[in-house]
Amino acid sequence: MADSTELRARDTIHAGGAWRAAVSGATREILDPADALPFAVVAEGDEKDVDLAVAAARQAFDEGPWPRTSAAERAALLRRVAELLVRDREELGLLESRDAGKTLEEGRVDIDCVADAFRYFADLVAAEAPGRVVDAGSPDVHSVVVHEPVGVCAMITPWNYPLLQASWKIAPALAAGNTFVVKPSEITPMTTVALIELLVEAGLPTGVANVVTGPGHTVGARLAEHPDVDLVSFTGGLASGTKVAQAAAPGVKKVALELGGKNPNVVFADACATAEGFDTAVDQALNAAFIHSGQVCSAGARLIVEESVRDRFVAELARRAERIRLGRGTEEGVECGPLVSEQQRAKVEAYVESALAEGAVLRCGGKRPEPSAERPEAGYFYEPTVLDRCHREMRVVREEVFGPVLTVETFRTEDEAVALANDTEYGLAGAVWTADAGRARRVAGRLRHGTVWINDFHPYLPQAEWGGFGKSGVGRELGPAGLAEYRETKHVYQNLAPKPVRWFAG
Ligand code: NAD
Repeated sequence: MADSTELRARDTIHAGGAWRAAVSGATREILDPADALPFAVVAEGDEKDVDLAVAAARQAFDEGPWPRTSAAERAALLRRVAELLVRDREELGLLESRDAGKTLEEGRVDIDCVADAFRYFADLVAAEAPGRVVDAGSPDVHSVVVHEPVGVCAMITPWNYPLLQASWKIAPALAAGNTFVVKPSEITPMTTVALIELLVEAGLPTGVANVVTGPGHTVGARLAEHPDVDLVSFTGGLASGTKVAQAAAPGVKKVALELGGKNPNVVFADACATAEGFDTAVDQALNAAFIHSGQVCSAGARLIVEESVRDRFVAELARRAERIRLGRGTEEGVECGPLVSEQQRAKVEAYVESALAEGAVLRCGGKRPEPSAERPEAGYFYEPTVLDRCHREMRVVREEVFGPVLTVETFRTEDEAVALANDTEYGLAGAVWTADAGRARRVAGRLRHGTVWINDFHPYLPQAEWGGFGKSGVGRELGPAGLAEYRETKHVYQNLAPKPVRWFAG
């Protein structure tokens, strides 16, 4: 492992086609959460770097070729990017694993999903009609609705899926012909910087893709308020998202917010009636809550299980959760990595403490694991934790913990299950487990969440919209709506036989 003194700072700010250090000269060490040691040093940008990057993106939009290219050309470039991602899959997957603390396999899957997003938006834009002809009710009028890029897009992304979240913004923004400045999370910037390198390699014109590495309160805040930015797309927590929306409001920018979730996983007893059904529901509840140590916006952090099967379900869940192998994500056989930072672990510990003080019953976890060869003492590890006997008044049930903490609540009737699942200010995703197809559809129809899984948890499709009800956000990513976010709609009405209207007599 490199000592921080051996690490050379990289120029990670890309503005107007050049890689640069921060104007201030400031740098930041990027830590591996598995051992808290730095493995890279990046530029720590601020408002001045944002101004340079936005100016480059503005110029590229107003004067450059990209917004005026054909859909076929843009699709071809996106497909080239997907090929480069496949070429660099191992390297990028490893970088994501070290940066965000996920397992190597998760890192690789993330990169596959990033390539899928580029391919999807390439196909979508290539297959589109150039405009929609509208029947104006007169043979003398030709009326068409066309789509145009919005302009300069600012993108602010979180640390849990650094490249995936960035790709859900960058791919559609480019497909639509925009230019952009992206700001990755200050603690996980590495793969976003690498993606900008690939976009340059793929042949994107100068100034179209820009990145400023640095903190939210300077770089992010300036991007959100910048007068030359036309659209802000933010993924992150509710508190920062609210600030971004406020900063963007005076400029009446378009704003898309992908925020947190407190996602219910509703299990009916009939889903557990067979041994196979029971095993599947438990296994998926485990996956829902603990993949990437629960640091997933759509994590199934609230298990809402029918009372008659609670004891059996929770006992099996806790037994399996205890056996999850924690360690450095790059170690063979490790199933869960560390939390992303000391701050994140401290937050998780405080939530567990408050839950126990409020009467929750600890079934497993609730502490840091013993250090081992694959789990350095300095790493930010925390055991998968199951908290039984929880209720909706507890903070741990209401607020997003964003860690490996599963709370258990129970219900007796379908109405009660739906009421519990909808009793959240968020509305990102939820699941229902039942063997009764009618009930599955009824409950799915009543859940106020942007994605509902029936007898599954977590899958998403690039061709299906992703986003939240309530305080989980505004707008959608992926799918046709995810492209529409990056477009203006223009109606062009052409009168082929103009005559005076004589509205005014004089
Ligand atoms: P965060 O809100 O702390 O930070 C997100 C980004 O915003 C970072 O780049 C940060 O630097 C920046 N930022 C912080 N303050 C800012 C400000 N005042 N102005 C502008 N930018 C600012 O979130 P996080 O801790 O990085 O990520 C975790 C959160 O992201 C969770 O709440 C999670 O649910 C959410 N998330 C949502 C989705 C989704 O699809 N809905 C996906 C992934 C993560």
